[in-house]
Amino acid sequence: MDIYRKILNEIKQRHAALVLVTKTKGIDVISEFYNMGHRDFGENKVQELMSKYEALPKDISWHFIGHLQKNKVKYISPFISLIHSVDSIELISEINERALKNNRTIDILLEIKIAAEQTKYGLSMDNCLDLLENPLLKTLKNVRICGLMGMATYTDAIETVSDEFHNLKIFFDHLKNKYFSDQESFSELSMGMSGDYHLALDEGSTMVRIGSLILGER
Ligand SMILES: *Cc1c(COP(=O)(O)O)cnc(C)c1O
Repeated sequence: MDIYRKILNEIKQRHAALVLVTKTKGIDVISEFYNMGHRDFGENKVQELMSKYEALPKDISWHFIGHLQKNKVKYISPFISLIHSVDSIELISEINERALKNNRTIDILLEIKIAAEQTKYGLSMDNCLDLLENPLLKTLKNVRICGLMGMATYTDAIETVSDEFHNLKIFFDHLKNKYFSDQESFSELSMGMSGDYHLALDEGSTMVRIGSLILGER
């Protein structure tokens, strides 16, 4: 718990938020943090999230941080608080449809590829611009784009990681100016995990996603 409080304080001092990543951890672990007042939890698998959602209090804010298949959106659409990992117009369209059916608006982040390593998921910055220019997007009124998410290269090379976060922040500011200047809700930059959250906060992260540093190895 001491490490949780220490990290939470650091993050709060930087005016950022902590999403506690509880994937693979049990209901008991989540309850322990819930009872201390924590409400933001991150999961990366739909089935695992569903069983936790059903077992736990309904005022938890659930964050979906893994790859989301279109055919699984329907399961999480009634309750999900923020989907961090959206990387196609088709997925946004499906989320919009499910949000409509549930009579709500679903908040999402666009996942941007910033790492040097080949990753399967996430939009290149160019593809992200294309997505934002897509006329279909304006018709999807039950989805709200609240910002960007990115994962840096998994490396000890501090400068590489900082540069990647820095580039994402510059891209975020560019999008904010160009497409979202009148939308206060476009305000979140989800970056930083156990190994690199200090660097992410230095580069302007508003939301860090931390698991193992607080909860131990998975
Ligand atoms: C697992 C995961 C995290 C947390 O990773 P840790 O290194 O345990 O802090 C953060 N973001 C995403 C997208 C993840 O899948």
